Amino acid sequence: MTSGPRRTPPGAVGKAPGICGQGPGFGGDFLFFRLNSICTICYTLRMRKRSPARLRKLLAQRQEWLDEMATLSLMVRGSFFERFSTCSRAHCACHKGARHGPRAYVAVTEGKVQRQHFVRKGQVAAVKRGVRQYRRLLVLARRITRINLELMRLGALSGTEAP
Ligand SMILES: [Zn+2]
Repeated sequence: MTSGPRRTPPGAVGKAPGICGQGPGFGGDFLFFRLNSICTICYTLRMRKRSPARLRKLLAQRQEWLDEMATLSLMVRGSFFERFSTCSRAHCACHKGARHGPRAYVAVTEGKVQRQHFVRKGQVAAVKRGVRQYRRLLVLARRITRINLELMRLGALSGTEAP
């Protein structure tokens, strides 16, 4: 679930070299020209959308998601799981099949180290909710990024926008 940040953003790096690399082969220049035209058309369409109403809508939507972010107070960047276990008492029945559990844990990775934290029964629901809240945070961050990129293209990303 934490694979998101590691992924290379699509189209961020290497796209242009890929297109140029096709130059000597089949219709490289033509393809490049076509892509350029498409980008120009997209850009033109986007610029046309720059109306006060459009900006207000973007800012209002962003504020809604920012407000939702502020409610995610239980967030835990980790994975919840339950498992059965054996203990260190040599003659315990758990060593003959009757293992203890299930016991709840939340695995959290910091840097390169993953730790499994035991979760008491009374805290299970809150921790599960916190794990879901973190996933929601990532969704909201992606959506707000899209809005901010659009604001940037419109030249309206200043940091002083009123909601
Ligand atoms: Zn035992």
